[in-house]
This record gives sequence, structure tokens and C-alpha cells, in this order.
Amino acid sequence: MANRIGMKVQNKLKEIALMSLLRGTLAKRKLDQKIAKLSGGKKKSNGVKRIPIKTADKMKLLMGRYYIKAKIAEHDPDQKIAWITSGGPVEILHAAGVTPIYPENHAAMIGTTRMADSLCSVAEDQGYSRDLCSYARSDFGSILAKKSPIGGSPRPDFLVCCNNICGTVTKWYQELQRIFDVPLIMIDAPYQYGDDRPEALDYVKAQLQEMMDQVGRITGKPIQWGRFEETVYKSKEALQLWREVQDMLAHRPAPMNSFDTFIHLAPIVTLRGTQECIDYYKALRAEMQERIRTGVASVEGEQYRLGWDNLAIWYKIQFLAKKFGEHKAALVVSTYAKSFCYEAPYQDEKDILRTMAANYIAGYINHGLDYRERELLEMAEKFHLDGFVMHSNRSCRAYSFGQYELARRMEEKHGLPTIMIEADQSDTRAWSDEQVGTRIDAFMESLIARKNG
Ligand code: SF4
Repeated sequence: MANRIGMKVQNKLKEIALMSLLRGTLAKRKLDQKIAKLSGGKKKSNGVKRIPIKTADKMKLLMGRYYIKAKIAEHDPDQKIAWITSGGPVEILHAAGVTPIYPENHAAMIGTTRMADSLCSVAEDQGYSRDLCSYARSDFGSILAKKSPIGGSPRPDFLVCCNNICGTVTKWYQELQRIFDVPLIMIDAPYQYGDDRPEALDYVKAQLQEMMDQVGRITGKPIQWGRFEETVYKSKEALQLWREVQDMLAHRPAPMNSFDTFIHLAPIVTLRGTQECIDYYKALRAEMQERIRTGVASVEGEQYRLGWDNLAIWYKIQFLAKKFGEHKAALVVSTYAKSFCYEAPYQDEKDILRTMAANYIAGYINHGLDYRERELLEMAEKFHLDGFVMHSNRSCRAYSFGQYELARRMEEKHGLPTIMIEADQSDTRAWSDEQVGTRIDAFMESLIARKNG
């Protein structure tokens, strides 16, 4: 007992020390940027001026604290860690006091920090096919090479995989189960070709119920229903806030753009169901309200508005924001950022689990082409779009399948021009700045000519 208390005190002290180190690093980075600015450091040659979003500093601290706590939890026998897919029912884990870890988030960081090529190669050398999603490959590479932008993810006690985003995750998590030799909880979310089928809701609801029991058995403490309800309500509130923030981009000019929303996704993915997540999106919403009130635009002199389909191209966010910004085009909505706040048509406050099941199968990526076409059209109307940018993502078949057909429908049926950018979310090996840049220039010139008659 005394040992346990001693260990908890030590862990708390470690957390405080690491947080103060993180605060110091962030403050120093900010100071360096200020000094560079005052001393007339690097000027942007293309005249695209971007005003940084202040709330982003809060996110760095929030996410930093989350990872520090997760790392400390790895050495706490009372604390369980579960690796979970981005579309997994994380509310059950938060209600059980389990720390959720997202290999996809980790892989996105690998992509942003441009470590993906080398880590994917490590996995490929071990026999993982290059056709496998680069998120899976880079995470396997990270485990094998023990290299990571954040010092690696803490070891899981169990795994939770929901296949509402793709079939790849099923195999990915089976492989993780083999590597770590821990239990795997599978949630099978049937693909919906048209409207969501009631029997699919019942089928997923039964699995969520079973998952609650399984998690209770693993932690040794059954999940308290009251705590679960509270977590679900918190999650609902955070999702609503995230929806509101994205809706604000319908304002002309948009106060931030889709490239910013990709960055601000992190808390809704990892921390939905917690108070910190709610507080974070309240702060972001307040900043966006202020930007709208004072007329701050994400793209100065915004003239054209575009929608984005598919995952972010993590290593080229700056490049793409700059390239479209040069043409006075703002990306103001994306199916990707919206993926993390879908609300199903079915909602029943008296049946939380069935409502949760409905929301978890409601996502864009879990639906057929007619549904996707309808979604894109609604976005085009609500956000006053002039066209779409589609990332044909080599890694993500689930997202990219049918995109050429969708582009054809947008163009021929609805008069919305579309550019297809062939790339990969993290693996840079098939990317060329020149080729993509030239295609964007040509697309924007034809869009502008068309818009101006
Ligand atoms: S295939 Fe697509 S949805 Fe599946 S893990 Fe990879 S990027 Fe995510």
C-alpha cells in the first residue's frame, strides 16, 4: 500500500515536471518566433499572410498533457491503456477510466514530422506491403524501429477496433494483437449503402453493450452507468461545439480554413467525453466569433471557396494552404473534419447505446456514393462553394473509392469543378511540388475564368 502511494506521488511529481518542461519549450519557441519577426526574419514572398490561431497554444498544452499522462500511466499498475481506432466508441473507455491511445493520431504526427518515409520503409523491409495504408505501415515501422516523434506510444493493455472507417483497421489491429499479445475488442459496423438500417443499429448496440462488459472485466471494475451517461453527454457537447466551429467557416470571409481544422481535430478525436475537450472547443469557438466580429480572414481578400474531400496530406498542409491562398481561394469545409462529429438522424435520449450505435455508423466514409454525393452537395450549398479539391489518397481505399465518379457527378450534374490531387496522407514518396502546384494553378485559372463568365 505504502509503495503504491509512493509511486502515485512520484508519478504526479513527474507529470508536474514534464508539464513545466513543455510549457517552457512552448514559451521559448514563441519567443524565438517573436524575435525572428522583430528582427525582420523570413518574409513570405507570395504575399499570403496568415494570422495564427491563438487557441492552438492551448491545444499544444492539452495534447502535451494527454501524452505525458499516458506515458506515466504505462508504469502505473492501476491504470489501463487501450489502443483504439479513430472511429471507436471511446466514451466507454473514458467512463471506465482507461487511457485511450490512437495509433492513427500517432501516424498523423509521423506524417506531419516527415518521418513516414523512413518508418514505412522499415515496415516494408519486414514484409508489410507498400499497398498497405501508410498509417499502419508507419506505426508498425515505429514499433519495430523504436522511433517516434513523441518517444513512442505507451504499451496497450488491450485493443479496441471499430471497422466503421475501413477494413484495413481490422487486419492492422489483429497484427497489433499478435505483436502485443493482449485482448482485442472488435466492433463490427456494417457499411450503409443508403439510409442507415434499423437492424444495423441493433447489431452495433448489442456489441457496445458487450464491450462495456468486456472493458469492466479487463479493468476489474464494472463501468458505472451514471459515469457512462455523463461521459456520453460530455462527448455530445464537445461534438456540438466542433460542429459549430466548422459551421462558422460558412461566413464570408472564413475566419479559419480547412487546413486549420485538420490541426484542431486532435482533441475531438482523443478527448471527446472529457471536460477539457469541451473547454477547448469553447475557447476555439470564442476566438472564431471574435475573428468574425473583427473581420479577420483566413485568406486575405478571399474570393473563392472550396471544399476538401479525404484525409489531410499531413506533410503538405503549409504548401497547399499557401498555394490556394495565392489564388485567393479558401478551403472552408472538409468531409474529413466533419467525419469526427456526424450525428445520425436517429436520436433517442432514452436509449443512449442505440443512439451511440447510430452515430458510430453515420460517418461519410461508412456510406455509399449516393449518400456521399448528397453530403457534398449540402456542403456546397451551405458553405457557398465554387468547387471541390479531392485528395485521391493512395493509402485510403475506403475514402478514395468512387471519388472519380463523385467528381464527375459534381461537375456534370451540379456544375461544380473538381481537382483531383493524387497523393498519400503521410508517405511523401509519390509527391511532387511542381506537378501538384502546376495542376492547382491550371485548376484555379479555369475556375476563375468560369466564375467570371
Ligand atoms: S485505410 Fe483510411 S480509414 Fe483506414 S486507417 Fe488507413 S487512412 Fe484510416
